[in-house]
Amino acid sequence: MQRTYISETKAGETQKIQGFIDKIRDQKTMQFIVVRDTTGKIQVTVVKSEQPEIAEIFTGLNVNSVVTIEGKVVENPAVKAGGKEILPTSVVVESAAEVSPIDDSTAIDMRLDYRWIDLRDEKKSLIFKIQTCCAKALRNFLLERKFVEIHTPKIIAAASESGADVFELKYFDRKAYLAQSPQFYKQMAMAAGLERIFECAPVFRAEQSYTSRHATEFTGFDIEFSYIDSFEDVMKLEEELLTYMLKCVKEEYGEVIAKEFGKEVIVPTTPFPRMKLKDVYQELEDRYDYIVDDIEKGDLTTEAEKLVYRLAQEKYNSEFMFVTDYDAKQRAFYHMRKDGVPQGYDLIWRGVEITTGAQREHRYEILKEQAEEKGLKKDVEFYLEFFKYGCPPHGGFGIGLDRITMLLLDIPTIKEAMFIFRGPNRLLP
Ligand code: ATP
Repeated sequence: MQRTYISETKAGETQKIQGFIDKIRDQKTMQFIVVRDTTGKIQVTVVKSEQPEIAEIFTGLNVNSVVTIEGKVVENPAVKAGGKEILPTSVVVESAAEVSPIDDSTAIDMRLDYRWIDLRDEKKSLIFKIQTCCAKALRNFLLERKFVEIHTPKIIAAASESGADVFELKYFDRKAYLAQSPQFYKQMAMAAGLERIFECAPVFRAEQSYTSRHATEFTGFDIEFSYIDSFEDVMKLEEELLTYMLKCVKEEYGEVIAKEFGKEVIVPTTPFPRMKLKDVYQELEDRYDYIVDDIEKGDLTTEAEKLVYRLAQEKYNSEFMFVTDYDAKQRAFYHMRKDGVPQGYDLIWRGVEITTGAQREHRYEILKEQAEEKGLKKDVEFYLEFFKYGCPPHGGFGIGLDRITMLLLDIPTIKEAMFIFRGPNRLLP
């Protein structure tokens, strides 16, 4: 008999279901077993006196065991979940589970040790269905606009790029590194004339960060495109892209997100507000008495990011804010500058940076100078070559997929917004 998904079971038919045992209620004369698959749950009801062999199977079984059950599906309004139940004619135990070492009250780090059990919780698996919806929307939006999906190498020869720390690895008899972003290769694709590309892939950062929003490996959704006039074109594409993504998520999961995560999905209006960094600091001081030392004003502090959310809401009725005009010292050498000002931005959503974007410097001589100014020479030689033989003006941005999932669902830590978390102290499972 073919398997039927639990959500598709029909009263009146004999069907086969497969899944995990979610609950077992073993009473004197009856057993009520709840079985769960990826689509939902159904009650399996056993009258002990009528089916002693089946009752015996369930008596010795723990929750989390995996079973295949055939039986008649019948309507029963008394069953809270779904109003139907299955009366089994055959039960096969595919995998008998030991008692689970974790439950809802277990601390996060121990739950992560047993992540595969932790994820059986419906709300947790829902996170990845919603993340899939986000990635699908991002992808569809770009594919419709003739973007090409590329796959760049993650094992690379040169260590330096944006200054973030890289993981070193042994590559036969020499050293290699794990890519801290696909930046160089995205730009190589522009020099290759691909014009519009994106990639969704792992990004590695050897940072000892113990915040709620940093991981040492995360998924980056990266975009690069040619023939732009300025970084305004980059911001425009990004705001349209994110608006489309949130529209798709709201349509498919808006109600579920409100119910399960208590968060409203707000589809923004475009354009998103834009503010220069120095004006942001001025407003934060004027409005919220937030004062920082001048030396910190070249970048946005974590506290300022949080206040930017408040400012964006109060001043512009928006959850988003593009912050522009950072100090060149704080930005990567490949950002184009105009009168010394980097032609790029960070996008802040709900108080956290989700993107860095920019127009890139495509003119070989200037790019070389900017690299040298940051003390980069040997490591970027191969990259500089990309710009010697003709390269269109271009720009792009990178979105942290795990971060937007965390913010979208108001999950307190990125550890739970990614399938498997990697941090300075975590390499397992
Ligand atoms: P941050 O200042 O938060 O450390 P960053 O400036 O190093 O981030 P970028 O190099 O611009 O980040 O990376 C692009 C995007 O990737 C970020 O906006 C963010 O959404 C995501 N991201 C960056 N670092 C991490 C990380 N360690 N863990 C998870 N996501 C990250």
